[in-house]
Formats: sequence, structure tokens, C-alpha cells
Amino acid sequence: MTAQLLDGNALGQKLRAGFKQRAEELAAQGMRPGLAVILVGEDPASQVYVRNKVNACQQAGFHSDKFTFPADVAPQVVLDKIAELNADPKIHGILVQLPLPRQFDADAVLDAIAAEKDVDGFRAENVGALMQGQPCFIPCTPYGVMKFFEDAGISLKGKEAVVVGRSNIVGKPMAMLLLHAGATVTICHSQTRDLAEHCRRADILVAAVGRPKMITGDMVKPGAVVIDVGINRLQDGPDAGKLCGDVDFASVKDVAAFITPVPGGVGPMTITMLLANTLESAERALNA
Ligand code: NDP
Repeated sequence: MTAQLLDGNALGQKLRAGFKQRAEELAAQGMRPGLAVILVGEDPASQVYVRNKVNACQQAGFHSDKFTFPADVAPQVVLDKIAELNADPKIHGILVQLPLPRQFDADAVLDAIAAEKDVDGFRAENVGALMQGQPCFIPCTPYGVMKFFEDAGISLKGKEAVVVGRSNIVGKPMAMLLLHAGATVTICHSQTRDLAEHCRRADILVAAVGRPKMITGDMVKPGAVVIDVGINRLQDGPDAGKLCGDVDFASVKDVAAFITPVPGGVGPMTITMLLANTLESAERALNA
């Protein structure tokens, strides 16, 4: 292996230790940071993500509330809960775990969250502010990726960055943050012609697709920084049931200069930055 590992567990722990201290300082002033998580339905992956987020809050000394609803709940019931949480002074961040069941208009649900509690940064208003470089909250997954660059001293100015995936929650905000940091950014997606050619030009390559091991060593420029956002559960073969990313770690690690593992890369950083945003929201509430 030539690539240096970007370890999300280690970086996450380092940052979370600082958050815990800040949370204690806030609590001493009567303001314990609080996160409310809403889960609709029984999707096993979503249940794991929600449990991890609630546990992370508890470990950092935050207050956390979890609200679960059956998959067939009427959307108005969830909207009413959001309205209640918007008015609750103990809560500084509200997170609705995605995806939502079909009867929901996800955009309408996200837009129901008060702007000052939108710690995922998914409200349309926040997305617009992100484009202008002044977001209220930076979406957690791309925010965590930017922390890897900062911590490892990886400069982005003038670099060719390629983001594979154009979702509203990962690909697009990721591209915007890289652009603001001075990179020249290409966004690839399912209609992109010759994905491999685009990837091979990348100094910084971010894969956020949801297809196991689709980025292989021959698609990576020697010395590139490769960030694997994908979380996939392998269906067949000897590793069936195990998690893997969108990047074929085995072949890419010998070509890249830096690489994130799955698990233990971007995932823990997403939760870490959720804590960061909740803490920031609580600090703003105290100063308001
Ligand atoms: P989406 O399904 O919303 O988006 C996937 C994107 O990949 C789409 O833009 C799609 O293109 C593109 N795509 C699909 N197939 C190809 C292909 N063959 N070539 C190029 N692009 C393709 O997924 P998310 O953005 O929500 O998530 C992506 C992955 O990241 C998933 O594995 C998810 O589990 C993981 N994830 C991980 C997080 C973490 O904390 N580590 C947090 C959030 C997500 P098009 O738009 O044209 O359809």
C-alpha cells in the first residue's frame, strides 16, 4: 500500500473531544446542546444511522431525543412534531433521517425545520446560501470531507476535483465546497460519458454513488486524494453482508496518495460534523 489512510475514526475522536469540552462550558451556562432525530419507518440502515447519531450525542454530553414513527404515518403528524421541536428551547438541531416513505414530500418536510435548527443544512434556503458561500450550516458529509483535507494539510487551490454523484445531500454541496476552496470542479453522474477519463484527471476524487467498488485503480491518477463516501452492503461472495465503499480499496490504495476506508472513513466524520453543527447552533442560541 502506498496511499496514506485518512482515518475518520481518529479524526472524529480528536474533534469530538473538543466538542465535549465546549458542550460542558455551554452546559455550565445553562445551555446543553440538544439534537432531535426523527425516524420514519423500519429501514435497518436508517435505524443504525440514527442509533449512531444518538449515541454520539450522549458521548459528547449533548441532550438528544429520538422520535420514531411507523412507515405509514400521515405526513402531518411528522410536520406537527417538527413544529413542536422548532419551538422547544432544549433542541438546537433537528434531523429527519432520509429517505422518507413515499407518501412524504421530503423537501416540504426539510423546509418545515426552522432555519436556525437545520443542522443537516438541507433546507432550500440553506442550499442557496451555500452557493453564495454563506451557509447557515454546512451539510455534514461534505463538511466532514473538507475536514480531512484541512487536517492532512491537503491544499485544494487550483486542483482538479472530480465529484462522482450529484445528489442534493452529498454530490452537489461537496462540489460547491471544493469550488469555494479554489478547486476546478467536475461533477459526474449516471449520464456522464467516459467516467474513467474524467476520474483519471482528478487530483481530488470524491465518489458518492452507492455502487460497490465502481472506482478501480486504473481510473485513478497516481498521487490523487481519493475520498469514498459510498456505503454499500455486499450481497454475494465470501464478503456477503460486509460494508464496502464505491472505491475498490484493494486496487486504488496502490495508486492514490491518500484514501479513506469504508467503514471508518467518511461515515464517522458525518456524525462528527452533525455534532459540530448542533454545538454551533447552541452557541448561537446562547449568544442570541
Ligand atoms: P443518490 O442515490 O442520491 O445519488 C447517487 C448519485 O450517483 C446520482 O447523482 C447518480 O446519478 C450517480 N450515479 C449512479 N450511477 C452512476 C454511474 N454508473 N456513474 C456515475 N454516477 C452514477 O445517493 P447519495 O448521494 O445519497 O449517496 C451516495 C452514496 O453515499 C450511498 O452509498 C450512500 O449510502 C452514501 N452516503 C454515505 C454517507 C456517509 O456518511 N458516509 C452519507 C450519505 C450518503 P444521477 O443523478 O444521474 O442519477
